[in-house]
Amino acid sequence: MKTRYSVIASALALVVLVIIQYYNISVTFQTKKEQFDSRYKSLVKQALYDYESPDNQFPSDSVFHAFDELAVGLVFQGLMPCNMPDGDSLGIRILNSFSRILANHRKPDNFLAGFLEEAGADPDFRSGYQIRELYLIDIGDCPVFTDTTEILPAGLEDALSGFSYTMEGNYYRISFDYLVDFTHKTRIIYRDMVITMVLALVTILIVLVIFTLTLRNMLIQQRLSEMKTDFINNMTHELKTPLSTIAVASSSLGDETLLQDRKKVIQISDMIKKQNRHLTQLIDRILDISIWEKDQVRLERKSVHIYEFIEEKIKDFRIEMQDRHIDIVTEYRLDKDYIMLDEVHMTTVFNNLLSNAVKYCEQNPVIRISVTVNHRLAIRIRDNGIGISRESQKHIFDKFYRVRKGDFRTVKGLGLGLYYVNQIITAHGGEIELQSNPGKGSTFTIYIPTDDEYPAG
Ligand code: ADP
Repeated sequence: MKTRYSVIASALALVVLVIIQYYNISVTFQTKKEQFDSRYKSLVKQALYDYESPDNQFPSDSVFHAFDELAVGLVFQGLMPCNMPDGDSLGIRILNSFSRILANHRKPDNFLAGFLEEAGADPDFRSGYQIRELYLIDIGDCPVFTDTTEILPAGLEDALSGFSYTMEGNYYRISFDYLVDFTHKTRIIYRDMVITMVLALVTILIVLVIFTLTLRNMLIQQRLSEMKTDFINNMTHELKTPLSTIAVASSSLGDETLLQDRKKVIQISDMIKKQNRHLTQLIDRILDISIWEKDQVRLERKSVHIYEFIEEKIKDFRIEMQDRHIDIVTEYRLDKDYIMLDEVHMTTVFNNLLSNAVKYCEQNPVIRISVTVNHRLAIRIRDNGIGISRESQKHIFDKFYRVRKGDFRTVKGLGLGLYYVNQIITAHGGEIELQSNPGKGSTFTIYIPTDDEYPAG
């Protein structure tokens, strides 16, 4: 519960961080955009002042005269849109004529580009004129156009106004803007923001990595603590059975009438011995594991006749399981008879795998054992048990791991058997493979290299 809250809190903090960084970036973008606009606006202004200088022969003069000529013609022909019913369309035509004059007589683009280049600014832009007000003047003012904000030259919707002009002749008055749109504006702004963006991204990435690692560790810790709890429960369960059997058996030894029956006494003493052996085995197994925590498994390898070894283990196993009907089928393909193995550890490995094949089987167990020796020893143990899901297979060799499913608590175990098997096989320089499908049985295959450096026989 506590873990869940801290995960939610951390995820929320991460989201807040992303939002803050996003906000920071947009604020920085806005500031950089304003800086860009103000710098380029003042450059354009400066350039246009220079453009209008006497050296350039006052380009506005020729515009002024062309406007004047046009306005005189219109006024004297009486083409005054304010007096006409279809004044609007006439107004547009007049406006277009004025725009054309501007475009043809006043071309500061090349001059501006050169000026910008000299100033070390980006010289790529598109430009155009926007007429804001136009009046024809006869006896009084005749507005042709007073609000042209809607009529912006195409592609210059986001352009900045580089310069505003007002010209007045005898028959007209006009106000217009020179608009400039810088082609690489966004790219230039983002280039200026690279450090801010990289820092924001790196911060988010670092926090994300830390968050993922912490979450992963937390889940591992949680799984470990669940497994430890399971282990303690299982161990208590395992230890209780032999202890209570010993308690019952030893108290019955105090019964006078029973003591007369020699056979019964021997039977009870055998039972106590058996349970005692079982207890010792359990405790040894737990102690073994705690020794391994500190130290690597130490092997005492010696030359083992593999056929005899396996047959003997199967015989012992059958005796141990005499109260169950078990089919064991064997198959041998042996290029070599002797292999260097730690006999004691390998006996436990073999027993663990065989007893699992019986423990986790809900029908009459049929175990197929195939032993192959060529450049390596391969022992395959196939059962017809309940099988193991793909998800559980990932953890099956982990310490204390037991499949959490159905009636597993009724099957005794500590989750140490396969861990032990894997440790021993790894110590032999080998590996273990598992193929299994739920409901279709499992196949464990052990591979151990048959090192020829050890003399056989
Ligand atoms: P234990 O048997 O003491 O629980 P193991 O380490 O031997 O511990 O096995 C771990 C888990 O793997 C078992 O709890 C069981 O669920 C599963 N398992 C092991 N061998 C088999 C098998 N042959 N068939 C099905 N499940 C198995």
